[in-house]
Amino acid sequence: MTRRQWLGLLSSLGLSSLSSRAAQAAPADTKTALPRIEPLLLTNAQWRQRLTPAQYDVLREEGTERPGSSPLNTEKRKGTYHCAGCGLALFASSTKYDSGTGWPSFFDTLPSAVQTKRDFHLVLPRTEYHCARCGGHHGHIFNDGPKPTGLRYCNNGVALKFVPEAA
Ligand code: FE
Repeated sequence: MTRRQWLGLLSSLGLSSLSSRAAQAAPADTKTALPRIEPLLLTNAQWRQRLTPAQYDVLREEGTERPGSSPLNTEKRKGTYHCAGCGLALFASSTKYDSGTGWPSFFDTLPSAVQTKRDFHLVLPRTEYHCARCGGHHGHIFNDGPKPTGLRYCNNGVALKFVPEAA
């Protein structure tokens, strides 16, 4: 089948309108104020070089750090929490709170910073979230957070890098 015949077939099936709609949708992204995030895709070997073993366990294998083990639990300065895998800014310090769980906790993320999926590691479904740029696992979302969102982003501290606000 030639390319022309193939396009004709797609058109007769009504599929060409799908691709034209997708083409129209693309420029709309630039109208939103949200940053465009380029994915960072590395091999497992490259991640092992880039990360400490503890970071690799959490970010690339969905491990969980021991509660109370992160120095970020007591971090109270103004600043931004970045993904330790790729540097993407994930949380503002203004959304951090003490959940008493032993893991750094936030009630919201920066816009478009994370994506979610359901996981069943503990039988009951939980919502796992990961960095929108590198896909690194960060933690889980629970519904027992403070206002205004009511959400708790329970984050492994080892997966974050805190950057204090310039004085
Ligand atoms: Fe990342």
